[in-house]
Amino acid sequence: MLPSEGSVLGIDVGCSETKRSSAICRLDWTATTVDWVVRRFRATEDERVAAITALADRPLLAAAFDGPLRRGLDEIGAYRRAERLLTLGFQPRIGKPGQSNSPVGRLLNRHANACARAVLATGTVRSARHPHAIDDRAIVEAFPSAWLGMLIADPETLDATRKDRSDRFYRHAADRGILPAAIAHLLPGRSHRDFASVTDHDERAALVCSLTALGVAAQDYVAVGDAQGWIVQPPAVLIQRWARDLLAINDARCGGGVAVVGRPDEDEAHIASGAERRAACQCGKLSVTCSVEPVRVSVCHCLACQRRSGSAFAAQARFPADCVTMNREARTWRRTGDEGGGATFHFCPDCGSTVYYRADSQPDLVAVALGAFADPTFPSPQSSNYEGRRQSWVAITGDIEHHD
Ligand SMILES: [Zn+2]
Ligand SMILES: [Zn+2]
Repeated sequence: MLPSEGSVLGIDVGCSETKRSSAICRLDWTATTVDWVVRRFRATEDERVAAITALADRPLLAAAFDGPLRRGLDEIGAYRRAERLLTLGFQPRIGKPGQSNSPVGRLLNRHANACARAVLATGTVRSARHPHAIDDRAIVEAFPSAWLGMLIADPETLDATRKDRSDRFYRHAADRGILPAAIAHLLPGRSHRDFASVTDHDERAALVCSLTALGVAAQDYVAVGDAQGWIVQPPAVLIQRWARDLLAINDARCGGGVAVVGRPDEDEAHIASGAERRAACQCGKLSVTCSVEPVRVSVCHCLACQRRSGSAFAAQARFPADCVTMNREARTWRRTGDEGGGATFHFCPDCGSTVYYRADSQPDLVAVALGAFADPTFPSPQSSNYEGRRQSWVAITGDIEHHD
């Protein structure tokens, strides 16, 4: 997908007019080598334009900016889906993006817009060919600490704080061969300098922004967001399973917003391919495959669930609907609940086992009967419902919410 030679640009957007806390990195490659040039600058119009003009002096396949950007390059001033998708569940492990509606977020947004305009003014950026484009030219928003964090198997063990997080992630990714692996994936067979030779905080961030731009140029990336802006993350095949699962869960929670753009031959290595589990009926003719961890596991003691399952209580695991694949058409039956909400039950026409059901109130989820997985190690339930109808001899134990 990438031409044998080319260049991309990354900018770590800073707000200081007195310290050189902004940095620009141009990543260049030939058929045999990858190299980069980095320059730091103050957030004044003169220095910004001088630094950008000096480095954006040749055709650029894409440019990525570490600061909020949306189509039109105006001030966003809102908490965006992109920020929420990278916060839920991610925050304790790899931190979270700043909010575009906070004072710092607004300031960063203005400086990111100024940097993007200055890059566009050079006329060197190729027209956008990637999905989720926010401009006619290939400019995108980056978020380096999450980009790095998603490539690390156990980022929480690095004990990073808000201040040193991206540096710790960078050092770890450079030392453990994670950054070289990312280059080998996007630009295979080329030699390059040691990533550990870059020691400045802002220069590292700018280099990761240029790697973000490289993924966009290769059409090999994950984007999160919506019309308020897309934050570009690494190629899906490089993202660790914990982060792939969390992205799939957040996509279900937020009603979409996680998009995988990948090479056609690597389609199978898509976000939703982490934890594959199969559930089947008694006779085995009706089965479903669930490609992510369940969003929620629960048990229900209501009388309808006792009837449905033929057991003292029912147990089920909910998955994002687009992560569940059915092997064939099932027979269905509809139940209307006490409060009007209904559900459609899908069962095997031969043996009659209900394998899954869909509640009208949760159109994005599929509930799969836990027993159909026939897996004694299946994740435990988080919630026990309708306990008022619980059989007296049943006790649901463990760390669990109890509801009447
Ligand atoms: Zn029930
Ligand atoms: Zn069957």
